[in-house]
Amino acid sequence: MGCPKGLRDGPCGGTDIHGMCETDPSLPCVWLRIYERAERIGRVDRLMKLQDDLDWRDEGTSSWLPLLKQVLRRGRRLNEAELTDS
Ligand code: SF4
Repeated sequence: MGCPKGLRDGPCGGTDIHGMCETDPSLPCVWLRIYERAERIGRVDRLMKLQDDLDWRDEGTSSWLPLLKQVLRRGRRLNEAELTDS
């Protein structure tokens, strides 16, 4: 399940007072769930990091192949920070 608007940097502001999505009120806002989960595990600070722009030319393609190529190029396993920055 993802945000119907495809938002990657936080909620759209249309979440209702019960935490439901404005686009589909039968679904909880994905970003509220993300925030609650981050809060539970003490990682809210990581949500403050802005994500790079998407290259929409890659829409519909796998994100695993570029990641695998990056790992092979480096010849080692990526650490967690590198994985989340990819
Ligand atoms: S309410 Fe939440 S899930 Fe729905 S469109 Fe806005 S950010 Fe996305």
